[in-house]
Amino acid sequence: MRYISTRDTEKTSPVPSAVTIKQGIAGDGGLFVPESIPGTGQEFIESLIPMDYASRAAAVLGLYLDDYGAAELADCCRAAYSSESFSDGPAPVSKLGDGLYSLELWHGPTCAFKDLALQLMPRLLSLALDKTAESENALVLVATSGDTGKAALEGFRDVGRVRIKVFYPADGVSRVQKLQMATQSGSNVGVYGIRGNFDDAQTAVKKAFADRKLAERLSEKGWFLSSANSINWGRLVPQIVYYYSAYCDLVKSGAIRLGEKINFCVPTGNFGDIFAGYLAMRSGLPVRRLICASNSNNVLTDFFRGGTYDRNREFRTTISPSMDILISSNLERLLYYTAGPEYTASWMRQLSEAGRYRTDASTYSLISNSFSGYYADEEQTETAIRRTFEDLGVLIDPHTAVGVCCAGQYRAETGDGTLTVCLSTASPFKFAQSVYRAITYCKPSDGYEALEEVSVLTGVPIPAPLAGLNERKIRFERTIRPSELQRAVLEDL
Ligand SMILES: *Cc1c(COP(=O)(O)O)cnc(C)c1O
Repeated sequence: MRYISTRDTEKTSPVPSAVTIKQGIAGDGGLFVPESIPGTGQEFIESLIPMDYASRAAAVLGLYLDDYGAAELADCCRAAYSSESFSDGPAPVSKLGDGLYSLELWHGPTCAFKDLALQLMPRLLSLALDKTAESENALVLVATSGDTGKAALEGFRDVGRVRIKVFYPADGVSRVQKLQMATQSGSNVGVYGIRGNFDDAQTAVKKAFADRKLAERLSEKGWFLSSANSINWGRLVPQIVYYYSAYCDLVKSGAIRLGEKINFCVPTGNFGDIFAGYLAMRSGLPVRRLICASNSNNVLTDFFRGGTYDRNREFRTTISPSMDILISSNLERLLYYTAGPEYTASWMRQLSEAGRYRTDASTYSLISNSFSGYYADEEQTETAIRRTFEDLGVLIDPHTAVGVCCAGQYRAETGDGTLTVCLSTASPFKFAQSVYRAITYCKPSDGYEALEEVSVLTGVPIPAPLAGLNERKIRFERTIRPSELQRAVLEDL
């Protein structure tokens, strides 16, 4: 399997997956995609049913990462998805209601679904350096508004040939998020607060990536800069696995028969998670429909309803912050598979110049065959949290609640009774303040106390990775000015 750019109008030569994982983004600014989508028949799915998650992962990844050996993939998956990291299993399926299921993706070390990709991707990157005969080691820089930074730190911790430095806005993360990062363990990690907001942190990191002098000085020390963001193929490919895994678990429990189609409803921001579901569907996993769930930043809802993508609108800050996005980068990959590289390149140019583009009728019709778009505003999101708790005794976080609300809208509007799986993307304790307010209508405490309040209120224990966070040893306390970032990048190498 080889990879090309979504904007590859020149038909350049395709590259193996290790190159895409090392490089992140294609030379022409496009995203890497597999040259063709592998087909998986019923036997393949049947063969996954008796396996554990790590073995299912190795089998699915083997379809896409054939420049990695089967034993290498098996080792990576076993290490990434161990019971030490995921004590309740990486992706358990539970019942939410009649024909409605939840795929819980937050049982990992940072209690959010990004762990499923970030526990694996660093191992793939480390191997990619050997495979591409790279003489330098990778220094991963991350600017984070909170969740990605912690998940990346946990994933890269103590992985060979890589180091990670995370920069977060000192005024822009919650107390729990700050504690999570400040207490990070590992010998190859660094964490810095940046004076300013998320944009200041991101701008400073982008400047470092563009600085030739810095690259030279790093190279003298044997390092090159790398990133771990969600457009990297190495982060996307592990997400395909849990769509197969959920399907297998539903067959195993007798909820569906093998071959029966199901729907997935996915709380969406950058379009990475739901696009992985699309690849599973195109490969032959029996999926009827992918429901794209957005919050009040509903660019994608409008896109799926009318075929026009228009980011020229007010940015809204919501209680589901990981979905507060107006440019969903991975949508470019869907455009590539439905319209080809010429249209994709042209629409992406229009998006960067005018902030909008309109797809042609045949592309829109192809997309509409697979996707439906819905959104939930803040009040609907809070209602979904409260109702799910009151009616079912199940605690869900605001991102998951957006999905549950949208799945409900879809089912009511279309009358489609197909079994629907809602992806549950974060532990409710990660967003304890919002969850507490939605259930009680009362103001919660600041910081860590809110987790205890939610636990007492609901009888649900605080998950182990978050429990006792306020008692752990602080390792990283430094706050720097944006202008000091490059010095921080170079120190202790
Ligand atoms: C990142 C994130 C999302 C959005 O996923 P995308 O792949 O960006 O669409 C949804 N929920 C949570 C909790 C997240 O952290």
